[in-house]
Amino acid sequence: MECSFCNQGVMGEGLKDIVLQNGNAVIVVHGIPAMVCSHCGHYDLPKEVQEELEKITREILQRDAHMKMFRMRKGEA
Ligand SMILES: [Zn+2]
Repeated sequence: MECSFCNQGVMGEGLKDIVLQNGNAVIVVHGIPAMVCSHCGHYDLPKEVQEELEKITREILQRDAHMKMFRMRKGEA
């Protein structure tokens, strides 16, 4: 399969580190299975991987919100 982004590389299975951003929060997920271009590094994530990433992001952001609240309360004391 040819890369739809640069039209020069070939898409092959690989692992990507994905950076997710939500407001001030940055989440890096290592080793995501993806189709990666051999030429420009453009990648496509399968739909089920995208959905899984969204789920992870939501869970981490929820947990992080709790942590921030906890830290704020601690800092106030
Ligand atoms: Zn490419």
